[in-house]
Amino acid sequence: MSCKDMTMDLHRLFDGEVNLTSEHQIQAHLCTCASCASQYQRLRSTRNWIHSSAPYYQVPADLAEKVQNALKHQEHVQAGARLVFWRRLAAAAVLMLVAIVAWAFILHPWQKAPNPPLALSDQVTASYVRFVTGISPTQFVSTDPQAIQVWMDAQLSYSINPGDYASEGFALTGARLDFIENQKVGVLIYRHANHDINLFVWPSGTGMDLCVDTFTQRGYNSVSFVTSGMKYWAISDLDAKSVENLVPLVQTNEANKK
Ligand SMILES: [Zn+2]
Repeated sequence: MSCKDMTMDLHRLFDGEVNLTSEHQIQAHLCTCASCASQYQRLRSTRNWIHSSAPYYQVPADLAEKVQNALKHQEHVQAGARLVFWRRLAAAAVLMLVAIVAWAFILHPWQKAPNPPLALSDQVTASYVRFVTGISPTQFVSTDPQAIQVWMDAQLSYSINPGDYASEGFALTGARLDFIENQKVGVLIYRHANHDINLFVWPSGTGMDLCVDTFTQRGYNSVSFVTSGMKYWAISDLDAKSVENLVPLVQTNEANKK
């Protein structure tokens, strides 16, 4: 995969429009190419900036009425006029266009349009927000990795390998489940400096290992990587460095399992 091929691929990855194999190929390139990795980082920073800084304009409440009145007026004017066929056709086309726009955006608001699939980072961030707001709290409270593994095994179609890193400052406190990428996934919960880290774990779908990817979204810091066929994604309201410090502990725990 060359850097030239990547320009479109980065945008497709960013928009969540690539299949799993392509996603891993693109991410494998990002692991080894600083230029493309920084281009991708810029895309994400821009989106973050837009989410947090761009003004949001509310559609005026009386806009629908104004469009409807304009349409009625146009119909009235046309009724009295003797237009040649092509002019009627052109006017009808314009009206239809206005009607479609009005129908799509005003009369039937956007909730009727199918929602595009959420990017993975959006899904994980939303899940973490559900956790911190108490909507999806810890379901199994325990500091015992074996007990958590048994609970997870009963809930999931795959096995995970919880590690406790209390002596390194990352204490295992429990687990929960959530729904990411159309599947039920296990989430390990760690406590560090009075903050919670959620560590999502699910099968990566390919045998390819991927390097550590770090980024910030909606003020939350994330670190993701793939090792031993499992995708790991840690997210927290802690600073980025603290979240990153969990990574070598998990990687060592995975390596010791083999
Ligand atoms: Zn490149």
